[in-house]
Amino acid sequence: MQTIQSVNEMQSHAIGLRSSGRLIGLVPTMGSLHEGHLSLIDIAKEKSDKVIVSIFVNPTQFGPSEDYEKYPRVLEEDIEKCRERGADIVFNPSVDEMYPPGFSTFVTEEQISSGLCGVSRPHHFRGVTTVCLKLFNITRPDLVVLGQKDAQQCAVIRKMVTDLNISAEIVIGPTHRDADGMATSSRNAYLTDSQRQEALCISQSLRTAKSMVDSGTKSVDRIVAEVIHHLSLSRRIRVIYAQVVDRDTMEPAREIIPGQQLLCVAAWADQIRLIDNIEL
Ligand code: AMP
Repeated sequence: MQTIQSVNEMQSHAIGLRSSGRLIGLVPTMGSLHEGHLSLIDIAKEKSDKVIVSIFVNPTQFGPSEDYEKYPRVLEEDIEKCRERGADIVFNPSVDEMYPPGFSTFVTEEQISSGLCGVSRPHHFRGVTTVCLKLFNITRPDLVVLGQKDAQQCAVIRKMVTDLNISAEIVIGPTHRDADGMATSSRNAYLTDSQRQEALCISQSLRTAKSMVDSGTKSVDRIVAEVIHHLSLSRRIRVIYAQVVDRDTMEPAREIIPGQQLLCVAAWADQIRLIDNIEL
């Protein structure tokens, strides 16, 4: 497995791979890799000839008071995990490589990114779309594997790919969960045992909502009220949003249409921001 830090080197290598007919699969990440990320590498391996994992903590997607500085960085461990999982290339550029002095071009998706996380993280998706387009131009993927855990991010990137005629296929891998149901996340590393115990109510509330839908509840308001009630029982949890939305447009739903919607939740566990979602 190769590791590449230079944008130019990565780009010319990717162009070479493509011209020799290799299908390139990209798994973009911010590192601190866990089983959720690694399951995306497995999907990329199945569907492509060369798997590139990018590891880049992207400063432009963090707000000024967010956790950019303290975001977990464990590059050596990550590289080892990628090697064990059978990735072909780890691309881990520096911030200066990706955003050299004078950088001034950003890409914005203006509909799907405006609700949910877009409300409380106003420039977040602009940073995500900008870094993803840069990564796509640098690594020339035939397919890009993203995780359903970040459902709004998936929808925003899908829309960017359509709107900007990018020729990569977007593949979405299912949310990986720990045995207790908690979605794996790099930010879980911040949680103390007791915070984690309380944060479990997030995935529990999603499952409760799903079983309400399965047993015939059609009212979005009843489902959301149940989720908020469930979350309010945990002292350390503060709800940022709990919404039923269309899985593609992220528009708020009026009535449950099974198979077409997601229940998305974001919540603070003390000062740690967690998100999760479930298909209804
Ligand atoms: P991140 O490193 O948090 O930027 O995530 C990189 C990619 O991994 C994104 O496409 C995420 O949606 C995906 N991902 C993160 N957590 C999970 C999970 N628990 N299951 C599946 N994919 C995930």
